[in-house]
Amino acid sequence: MLKNLNLNIDNTFSEELPADAVLGKARRQVKEACFSFVSPKKTSAPKLIHVSDEMLETLGIPEEVKSTETFLNVFTGNEVLPNTKPYAMCYGGHQFGNWAGQLGDGRAINLAEVVHNNQRWAIQLKGAGETPYSRSADGLAVLRSSIREYLCSEAMHHLGVPTTRALSLALSGDQVLRDMLYNGNADFEQGAIVCRVAPSFIRFGNFEIFAARGDHKTLKELTDYTIKHFYPHLGTPSKETYIQFFKEVAQRTLTTVVHWQRVGFVHGVLNTDNMSILGLTIDYGPYGWLEGFDFGWTPNTTDAVHKRYRFGNQPNIGLWNLYQLANALYPLVDEAEPLEAILNDYKTSFEKESLKMMRQKLGLQSETEEDEKLIQQLEENLELSETDMTIFFRKLSKFPKATSEAGIDFVKDAFYAEEEIQGAILEKWNTWFDAYKLRLQRETATDEERAQQMNKVNPKYVLRNYMAQLAIDEAEKGNYSLVDELYKLLKQPYDEQPANEKWFAKRPEWARHKVGCSMLSCSS
Ligand code: AMP
Ligand code: MG
Repeated sequence: MLKNLNLNIDNTFSEELPADAVLGKARRQVKEACFSFVSPKKTSAPKLIHVSDEMLETLGIPEEVKSTETFLNVFTGNEVLPNTKPYAMCYGGHQFGNWAGQLGDGRAINLAEVVHNNQRWAIQLKGAGETPYSRSADGLAVLRSSIREYLCSEAMHHLGVPTTRALSLALSGDQVLRDMLYNGNADFEQGAIVCRVAPSFIRFGNFEIFAARGDHKTLKELTDYTIKHFYPHLGTPSKETYIQFFKEVAQRTLTTVVHWQRVGFVHGVLNTDNMSILGLTIDYGPYGWLEGFDFGWTPNTTDAVHKRYRFGNQPNIGLWNLYQLANALYPLVDEAEPLEAILNDYKTSFEKESLKMMRQKLGLQSETEEDEKLIQQLEENLELSETDMTIFFRKLSKFPKATSEAGIDFVKDAFYAEEEIQGAILEKWNTWFDAYKLRLQRETATDEERAQQMNKVNPKYVLRNYMAQLAIDEAEKGNYSLVDELYKLLKQPYDEQPANEKWFAKRPEWARHKVGCSMLSCSS
């Protein structure tokens, strides 16, 4: 059988950047190095739960290879690909606003980089055992969090949101001890491993660690490497190149945050070690999807008090994190002003891009002065009474511009407490629909054309928190059919799927306060 799974291996990160001279998993501060060589832990009874055919193809792995022993062993850590040396990356980060020092891949192990169809991919196992960066933890991942990462990263891709991808989801066969709610009730759970894939897993924190240590030599090496491979159009590194590099990272970050706001995704832990230098959504932990539209919502129980990572604060946090990256790159630029100019631009660009995105959600192709007010009023209304974001925008596309019917009747399925839509609240909605109708009448598109446009940006299906939890509950009992069902459903999130109408529904009441549905912890 193909011992290398037909992969066209081409390692650059571990070939071109300095390695930690120490081997082994002993916890340590790793200096003047970008990574440490470390092998995945052997698993006792690995079993594949799901493989993405699309990612097989993307990586150039023949379909039939997925059922081989080699495939199973490689993607659960039991076998190392020939001529490769797995490694864990060294990075630091600001966690919840504070510098946390060295973090690093505590449970992610990079297997190799491959190039297929001119695209570079780094292949990484998450949950494959201890590394020098595991600190006090075990390097493992449990089934529930692995299902959440596997399903959501692929769903995000199909929603058109920049993201890391996933190739496979497997059980390790080992038990993992977790105190899910951090309340002293630790229990054994099934261990699992996700093989995730991205052009690069470099984070803001990879740059921050060298700047924090005053190691400008390695900082420059890493920055030059990143530009050479992932921003090659910027050319030979110079002060000007570093400024342009930062500008492009800022733009990509902004683009991704606008996508999150469009689809109602709340990351939950936007620490700088969870910010991709390629602007990808990375590290799916206690994330969540808005059901009721609420700028103040955070899915992460660790964040419940300050709500730093709430939905409405993601744009600001993107900027805050970019400040940290700017500080880290400053030694290479030696001039604050050009970096500050880029940071200042972020705010105005964000407002512009956000307005553009909301116009699309409303089906407005032209631009008028009143649009901002119309959008602001809508956002206020959406918070008056719990209103399902996904259902609201999807149903809104059916509102005809010349109707005499009340607009509210078109979207009533989106309200969690329809009985609240009366009196002052109803009046506000009627006022808004009157304004929206007048605004639509200034558009040239027909109702059908507008609906078509809107349905391309307003998904019909997202991975609602309770849907992932249902798949987890089944999977924990050994039934993986719902994982597969949701995986397939979320491949076409913008399409009408009559057979799947049951997933186009409000969150059921039982899920309102259930662990995993409304409350998620970092314990994973
Ligand atoms: P996160 O909050 O998941 O982004 O993780 C923050 C840091 O903790 C990263 O350096 C992770 O690699 C590390 N980490 C999280 N969970 C574990 C674990 N179970 N074992 C080892 N390291 C972990
Ligand atoms: Mg992380």
